[in-house]
Amino acid sequence: MMVHYCQTKCAYKDSILFYRLGDFYEMFFEDAKTVSRELELTLTGKDCGLSERAPMCGIPYHAAETYINRLIDKGYKVAICEQVEDPKTAKGIVKREVTRVVTPGTNLNMQELDEGKNNYLMAIVCVGDHFGVSTADITTGDCYVTEIDEERKLWDEINKFLPAEIICNDAFLVSGVDVDDLRNRLHISVFALESWYFGDDLCKQTLLEHFKISSLEGLGLADYDSGVIAAGSLFRYLLDTQKNTMEHMNKIIPYTTDRYMVIDSSSRRNLELVETLREKQKRGSLLWVLDKTKTAMGARMLRNFVEQPLIDADAINERLDAVTELNMQAMLREEIREYLNPVYDLERLVSRISYRSANPRDLLAFKSSLEMIPHIKNLLANFTSPLLVRINEQMDGLEDLYSLLEASITEDPPLAVKEGGIIREGYNEQVDTYRNSKTQGKSWLAQLEAEEKEKTGIRNLKIKYNKVFGYYLEVTNSFKDLVPEYYTRKQTLTNAERYITPKLKELEDMILGAEDKLFALEYDLFCQVREELAAQIPRIQETAKAIAQLDVYASLSVVAQRNNYVRPTVNTKGVIDIKNGRHPVVEKMINNDMFIANDTYLDNGSKRVSVITGPNMAGKSTYMRQTALIVLMAQIGSFVPAEKAKIGVVDRIFTRVGASDDLASGQSTFMVEMTEVANILRNATAKSLLILDEIGRGTSTFDGLSIAWAVIEHISNTKLLGAKTLFATHYHELTELEGKIPGVNNYCIAVKERGDDIVFLRKIVKGGADKSYGIQVAKLAGVPDSVLNRAKELVDELVHTDITSTFKDLAESSRKTKPKAVHYDEVDLEQISLFDTVQDQDIIEELKKLDITTLTPMDAMNTLYRLQNKLKNRW
Ligand code: ATP
Repeated sequence: MMVHYCQTKCAYKDSILFYRLGDFYEMFFEDAKTVSRELELTLTGKDCGLSERAPMCGIPYHAAETYINRLIDKGYKVAICEQVEDPKTAKGIVKREVTRVVTPGTNLNMQELDEGKNNYLMAIVCVGDHFGVSTADITTGDCYVTEIDEERKLWDEINKFLPAEIICNDAFLVSGVDVDDLRNRLHISVFALESWYFGDDLCKQTLLEHFKISSLEGLGLADYDSGVIAAGSLFRYLLDTQKNTMEHMNKIIPYTTDRYMVIDSSSRRNLELVETLREKQKRGSLLWVLDKTKTAMGARMLRNFVEQPLIDADAINERLDAVTELNMQAMLREEIREYLNPVYDLERLVSRISYRSANPRDLLAFKSSLEMIPHIKNLLANFTSPLLVRINEQMDGLEDLYSLLEASITEDPPLAVKEGGIIREGYNEQVDTYRNSKTQGKSWLAQLEAEEKEKTGIRNLKIKYNKVFGYYLEVTNSFKDLVPEYYTRKQTLTNAERYITPKLKELEDMILGAEDKLFALEYDLFCQVREELAAQIPRIQETAKAIAQLDVYASLSVVAQRNNYVRPTVNTKGVIDIKNGRHPVVEKMINNDMFIANDTYLDNGSKRVSVITGPNMAGKSTYMRQTALIVLMAQIGSFVPAEKAKIGVVDRIFTRVGASDDLASGQSTFMVEMTEVANILRNATAKSLLILDEIGRGTSTFDGLSIAWAVIEHISNTKLLGAKTLFATHYHELTELEGKIPGVNNYCIAVKERGDDIVFLRKIVKGGADKSYGIQVAKLAGVPDSVLNRAKELVDELVHTDITSTFKDLAESSRKTKPKAVHYDEVDLEQISLFDTVQDQDIIEELKKLDITTLTPMDAMNTLYRLQNKLKNRW
């Protein structure tokens, strides 16, 4: 057995081998040490014919799921080696085989998986300077493939899917992608596979065989070279680990990343699309507000919608038409939602059918879901918007499957498949006959008991049953003398004796034989029914997707009505005009009526960049995020929280919000900030929407202000970028740019001063703020008075060294002087040399402060020398 163990382990080196021995799974050697350490189990030893005892560790087979999940969670793979023949009938060593390898991306345990979320496995191959990427969820059968030409875009794609596991070639590991970050921060298990997995021919062959086709064109993959390798290796890996034909993985959807709005990973986090930034919870995210779906399939699809908004105005309008019609027919919509309520997770059920692991209760749940479909289709027939009509067409009534299940499966079947009680009466004659003999058996026994009582005179004689002896006659000691000779004694108890008779044995054979045969036949019939469902997997999947879509649009419609959203007018002219917009999440968190609505206007002309100033806590971040979220909501096809909204489709949303350390990836706060800024400036386009909050706050005032200033110059310049931008800042100096750089406008969030305190009005108005009221906000936060008073003193002192005037002068000079390096489209400006002036200012200040009367000639010489040097070394 140990030889077999070692051979098996050799074939599954990268997995922990769960080796079935009777009622336990045992692990040996290194695996035993790892498992005992990770799961805190006792490490024992076994004499395996070696000089030292082999480390060993065991888990009872019935509790294996829990342990497997804990190991998967920690990023391990588990190979399960089962006994594949009955130990009772086996000759010699019981035959054992690995029946499945469980990996993080192929976990099928429904208790472990979040039903509102896909569990993805992603294959990435780095070929030359680009990547083939294929992503699949084996619990639902979804599979996608794409090709990516840049590391950054790959990073965005990984963040969009957030797979549980990535399999890759060696080239990916050295491509510069930060694999540690994937592992440590995103908690993705990354496994490099052996190079043969990525062989061109093998990959093609795997796909052709799996999809039973003769050319890859049939899959739409003719133009995907590295994509084919990614998909091929993914399927090879699935076939090898799942040991299953994966019938439910019957489609690959090729896509290009430019079909969807690009949202980079930090923007996804910052905008809290599907989870909050800090607690990583759904509550408080956009998805939390939008998700009123009734089914798990709908919940997953809505999440995917939020993760990838559209950029095609027609497709967006089609979705909006569907939501509008559902709004107008709210009564019908509610009825539909009632019918959606009991619909089971058909996608995950299909995967269990494909794995042949669906149990009788699954089939019952399936049947009750199918029962709803005709009603849903009937109601849906009242709708005329093209999308809803298509959904109805896509939804198969599946009446044949319903009839099959209705006829074959009982109303209350057990979970177990081999203990009978599954097949409905009247479905199969033989089943009924066996059942009858089982029930008739009871009356045969009763009859025999009466006869024996009569014959022997033993008044309290009883026929009983236990698993060891089967049926027996029990006689209490007081009647022992009346026991006839043809009774064979089987057992003696303290106050009774147990007997059998040939007649009783005969009845027992008939009764128990019928039960065994019944259970075996019921199991066979159940498997046949399951096979019939397996043959219809594509139909069920199509219907499941149609139900998911309907659920999503119905949810968007309900949310729109409940929250008083409006339909956005989607345009391609680039104008974003929101009247009385609200933040969808903040308005829910605070009392609805308390939220102050605000307008936003951005276009590609004179209103490109809004510089937003205002005190701390005024609501700048909320306002900017609300604009981004409204645009994003519109582009997924949702109504939006506003009184009116025109949304010019944007191709990307970038956000740079607040300071966040990323110590895990070895970056400081400011480094993270600048990396994000660099990414934005390099990847944004004129059609993008940028939300920049507090750029340049993580460093010294001069550096920070200068960077912020230069960023605005760059963004607003249509030759360089010209993206629509909301830019919040505490550098009031930046308000000087309005009127001097084309497209830049000032806004501020109004507050009212009341003595030493401030009242937040939360209203955005034209113009710039000149104060931050930081000390007042510190007071609100409970900073001690002594600190506040000292801070006030310091503010007064620092005001004397105000740099505002310097910047005012700079801006003025920018406007007047001739162009040097950069040409702006409307007014030519000299690129502003901020650092020069700031350092000049230092020297001027120093000169001003010199008390010449007290200087010795030597001191004067030294000072002059130093100042001159400063000027010479200036950069
Ligand atoms: P800081 O400059 O300190 O980062 P800020 O100006 O960005 O502050 P926010 O974080 O946007 O301020 O807002 C602070 C709080 O004010 C929010 O948490 C929210 O509760 C409330 N708030 C913001 N905007 C509104 C609004 N329009 N109506 C009602 N309450 C609001």
